[in-house]
Amino acid sequence: MDERRGRHEAGPAQRGPSAVRLVWVYPDLLSTYGDRGNLLVLARRARLRGLRVEIAEVNSDQPVPVDGDIYLLGGGEDLPQILAARRLATGGGLAAAADRGAVVFAVCAGYQIIGTEFGGVEGEPVPGLGLIDIRSGRGERRGVGEIIADVDPALGVDRLTGFENHQGVTRRGPDVKPLATVVTGVGNGDGTEGSYSGRIVGTYLHGPALVRNPGLADMLLSWVAGPLPAVDPRQEDLVSKLRADRLAAAAGVPS
Ligand code: GLN
Repeated sequence: MDERRGRHEAGPAQRGPSAVRLVWVYPDLLSTYGDRGNLLVLARRARLRGLRVEIAEVNSDQPVPVDGDIYLLGGGEDLPQILAARRLATGGGLAAAADRGAVVFAVCAGYQIIGTEFGGVEGEPVPGLGLIDIRSGRGERRGVGEIIADVDPALGVDRLTGFENHQGVTRRGPDVKPLATVVTGVGNGDGTEGSYSGRIVGTYLHGPALVRNPGLADMLLSWVAGPLPAVDPRQEDLVSKLRADRLAAAAGVPS
């Protein structure tokens, strides 16, 4: 199978060594609540800095290319999640990319898949990819609704706003840090939200996460492109309004 199938140019520029290569993993299985927006926002914010962008959308019957810079996984229902985990393990492309230092940003089902194990349909343990030392199981109640969380100060990213809908609860191994501390909502189920280790980042936040939280998008981009110039504030009007709206809407919701 042609590894480049599904790959297309995201802007007028041709592919070149300086392009930021974004890989959207298994949109046919893992893309709930508009998680594709994470891909679009990364591409947009890269282009606003004059960076060239190349996008590969890789369905589950295609091999995951190893040469990407940022790999994105979205959320999914339980059965597609299990299928995605099996196919990703068999193909090996995502693990090989992570091994060579690529950035992985994974949401909800994707977050659970990149861990060591997660809970299946009946709560049975299903092997994950082991890209990050986290284990997820099924919690007693679903976490559904708006979530607000304060990011690890070491990452220098503003407060997160998102939407969550998951049964899973997630525990971290000793070398994995929580991405954020929950202000309102459920997150990992222990007062923390998401995880990161090296360049592997996972979160329960939809919204989509990078649309509502451009600081998180810029953090990922800066890991592959170096320090980024500020975006013209006129380009941030809509997202500023969205953030203010969502943070205010969630503020009154008890955690
Ligand atoms: N199936 C997983 C859970 O319920 C992930 C759900 C999702 O991605 N929204 O925890």
